[in-house]
Amino acid sequence: ASAACLALTLSACGQNSEGGSKEKTGDVEGATIGVAMPTKSSERWIADGDYVVKNLQAKGYKAKLVYGEDDPDTQVSQIENLITQGVKGLIIAAIDNKSLNNVLQEAKDANIPVISYDRLILGTENVDYYASFDNEKVGRLQASYIVDKLGLKEGKGPFNIELFAGSNDDNNTRYFFNGAMSVLKPYLDSKKLVVRSGQTQLNQVTTLRWDGATAQRRMDDILTSTYKNARVDAVLSPYDGISIGVLSALKSDGYGTADKPLPVITGQDAELASVKSIIAGEQTQTVYKDTRKLAQVAATMVDDLLHDKKPEVNDTKTYDNGVKVVPAYLLQPVSVDKTNYDEVLVKGGYYTEAQLKG
Ligand code: BGC
Repeated sequence: ASAACLALTLSACGQNSEGGSKEKTGDVEGATIGVAMPTKSSERWIADGDYVVKNLQAKGYKAKLVYGEDDPDTQVSQIENLITQGVKGLIIAAIDNKSLNNVLQEAKDANIPVISYDRLILGTENVDYYASFDNEKVGRLQASYIVDKLGLKEGKGPFNIELFAGSNDDNNTRYFFNGAMSVLKPYLDSKKLVVRSGQTQLNQVTTLRWDGATAQRRMDDILTSTYKNARVDAVLSPYDGISIGVLSALKSDGYGTADKPLPVITGQDAELASVKSIIAGEQTQTVYKDTRKLAQVAATMVDDLLHDKKPEVNDTKTYDNGVKVVPAYLLQPVSVDKTNYDEVLVKGGYYTEAQLKG
């Protein structure tokens, strides 16, 4: 509750702003929370949805989980339905971060607190808290991995690199990309790293809806137009699904032999197919983000807000959504490759040995 609330009786206090009417705590016990996830086409969001629901249930709530199948309009109407059905809180991983303004006004009018999940919702004051990872660090981990693996710090090079970024309607995309570029820039400036395609600006390298097939086509084009007489040594990829697409293009072009080894290729999410690819020596790295923890943070935030408790945050300055700086709790991403997947993912309980062998 806001500071102004402290001077008032609880019943006169908004749970997420000044002055809204607030139900008594008893009214939220067993209430339903709406959970809107972007797509089932990527494993991570299936896991996120499941974990969020489990955490809410453990706190005594019911949950309604919906997936927008990567279509912004579908997601808007799903959230509208959740509001109509009387949910008491919303946890949303947006598809298009700018498409939710109207529907979040409806949430606000119904006094429903909103947690922006993983991806920051932009352009509205009606988002109360943000639960995510240190997104810039994700990019830095990917780029640092490339720098280390190529031996750039030891003065090796020059090497050829190509850059891929995520969906331009996802706020995380620019954080990943800018984080990575902050690490790569000195080597690009000194020409120890060369982007032969010339495509170095974010708007030249985005991949709509993070689609692997789209990335594959772009990599095909780049290989055909630019690498007739040269070799790609590294690919900055922001997401495992994109890495798999890029790898397909490379393999069709004859990469993956002793004469023409695969480049260093990064990723994100530690999806099963990519961890297997890392074990098989194809994809080189991924960034693991423990979705179990993220789900826990988001569920706790909603629960706190519904009980007039201020959620714990650890960042109050980074995530400006254009209207306000959204208070955030950011978790730490971890770089994973062949050398530590067992320690991090198997010993950490994210995957079993059997899943990775299958
Ligand atoms: C998430 C990433 C994910 C990507 C594609 C981003 O918003 O932060 O973890 O790889 O979406 O689903």
